[in-house]
Amino acid sequence: MADGFPPFERLALIGIGLIGSSIAHATRRGGLARHIAVHAKSAASRETALRLGLADSVHATAAEAVQGADLIVICTPIGACAAVAQEMGSHLAAGAIVSDVGSVKASVVRDVKPHLPDGVHFVPGHPVAGTEQSGPEAGFADLFDNRWCILTPEAGTDTAATDRVTAWWTAMGARVEVMEPAHHDLVLAITSHVPHLIAYNIVGTASDLETVTRSEVIKFSAGGFRDFTRIAASDPTMWRDVFLNNREAVIEMLGRFTEDLIALQRAIRWGDGDTLFDLFTRTRAIRRGIIDAGQEVPAPDFGRHKPHGDEG
Ligand code: NAP
Repeated sequence: MADGFPPFERLALIGIGLIGSSIAHATRRGGLARHIAVHAKSAASRETALRLGLADSVHATAAEAVQGADLIVICTPIGACAAVAQEMGSHLAAGAIVSDVGSVKASVVRDVKPHLPDGVHFVPGHPVAGTEQSGPEAGFADLFDNRWCILTPEAGTDTAATDRVTAWWTAMGARVEVMEPAHHDLVLAITSHVPHLIAYNIVGTASDLETVTRSEVIKFSAGGFRDFTRIAASDPTMWRDVFLNNREAVIEMLGRFTEDLIALQRAIRWGDGDTLFDLFTRTRAIRRGIIDAGQEVPAPDFGRHKPHGDEG
């Protein structure tokens, strides 16, 4: 058990994919819950959760899984949050804390909060850590080590509940920051959502080209393309839901991105090397800043045997 942090009696994880299973591993590692109850949509994932020791009990419905739980964390794709919250709402114990891990926050607040009874605390969260893998076998205990977890409790939320969720994430290795849901969505639009969209787009464009064969794309992929393919291999359901639920912020950031791309196109057309050189110098400094902040390693790690950081 982490110093000074009383473990939760019963943690209910609704969804046991990459993030849910990593939470189970990290919770076990720190002794942060006495019992982990798991609900997943398929019997296969529930069985895997038992086999891997991620769950003490598995449940065919979210309503059953949350019975008696003092911490409930929704770890499904964000498009499923409303239905999950509706199903479990009337089964939550008084004083329980409900959280989530969704990559968009305003839509989760909109979809979940109306279904929570009075006396249940809601502390939405987003661990800014992940990989392109999915499913219960993909998780690992140190996914959150030294990564940020952003919490977005609304004003008026019980501070003791927010403190407990903060202590839990800290004990799982993460660093916690609190922010407004809309601000979170704007920040993540440019740091995560638009980059994923660019990756999906460039890989899509390359695969549609007729003048370059598919085998050439694969053979010569080391020149930058390979990193995009890793990001573009991310879970289609999760990312469809991200773009459907963070529409405004993504469109705003895409507008800025498109203007800047056109300016680069112009610089290339007119042979304006200074503009290109200045930008590439500034962007190099950003990369250095990320490494200095401990959010990336300087060495190339294209295989990412223990991947970190391409968060959703
Ligand atoms: P995942 O690996 O695809 O797992 C999703 C889990 O949710 C599975 O266990 C799935 O059950 C379950 N599920 C799906 N629909 C459900 C429903 N209607 N009712 C109950 N369970 C349902 O996804 P993930 O990568 O862990 O992502 C989960 C959440 O974390 C998403 O909201 C995402 O935005 C957020 N997130 C992801 C990352 C990342 O890098 N992947 C990073 C930070 C946050 P089955 O296995 O039975 O299908």
